Amino acid sequence: MDFKIVIAILLFCLSAPAQAKGPSRKMALTFDDLPYVRAGVPSQGLQSAQRATKEILRVLQAHRAPAVGFVNENKLQIAGQVDARIALLQQWVDAGMALGNHTYSHPDFNQLTVEQFEDEIIKGEVITRRLMQSHQPYQLYFRHPMTHTGDTQAKKEAIEIFLAARRYKVTPHTIENSDFVFNVGYVRALHAKDEATARRLRETYLDFTLAATEFAERVSPQIFDREIAQTLLLHANDINADCLDEMLRRLGGRGYRFVTLDEAMTDAAYQTKDTTVSKYGPTWLWRWMKSKGMNLSFKDDPEPPQWVKVLYRQQ
Ligand SMILES: [Zn+2]
Repeated sequence: MDFKIVIAILLFCLSAPAQAKGPSRKMALTFDDLPYVRAGVPSQGLQSAQRATKEILRVLQAHRAPAVGFVNENKLQIAGQVDARIALLQQWVDAGMALGNHTYSHPDFNQLTVEQFEDEIIKGEVITRRLMQSHQPYQLYFRHPMTHTGDTQAKKEAIEIFLAARRYKVTPHTIENSDFVFNVGYVRALHAKDEATARRLRETYLDFTLAATEFAERVSPQIFDREIAQTLLLHANDINADCLDEMLRRLGGRGYRFVTLDEAMTDAAYQTKDTTVSKYGPTWLWRWMKSKGMNLSFKDDPEPPQWVKVLYRQQ
């Protein structure tokens, strides 16, 4: 055999396994508004919350995907259901997931004084800390409702100091898939037994999640010269209960390995100081980009389709 052909075959064999493996990407999964998001359908009670919790945790474990669940403890205070709702959080802990603080009652920091917001943080950690007792020591995480981190520099800095003193790390997100928008129409379709609309919403939601992920993959190298570990913001709701398995499969197909939030936060990008002050709740990719003095366009960050938004506004 010609020497050059032998070399060519050898080179092909050496390079093939690396190509087959595809890109190696990391993603941390976070779920907000635990134990469960209601979407305005009266029959959506404790049983719906139990079903969604069981299904989300089953899928996470099947994919060996760790997650942090951010709790609003006021959602536990429903007459006659307190123990049953605390049991939902216990299931997260028993499944090896971590719990974080998302304030007591999900208020808008823009509408509150620093002192009022501090009270919400203190009141929001009572049961969660007790449930996480067996996991000591663990990193405390805080996520601002609506990711409103302070509409003035003074408020933002004051709450950062308060959180750090209580050993909290602020939790960023780099991908947001508007699941709460899709979920409203989805819950209504489920309860109306309108399977055609429910299926269309599931399919559109999955495609949208992948489109939002691809945007984060495109924009992060423009900010950090490389793709960074991503953090996906989801909610503990019905559409995720029914789509998470396929979502994680598709993300796995794009080369994602699901890592703890602790591990994602070791990515140097997450050490970027967020100095942006806004009354809105933008993604951390935008915050970090602005904090680094850059001015990239985020107009390609996808928006949910109009028909999904119409269903959402009908709530
Ligand atoms: Zn929330």
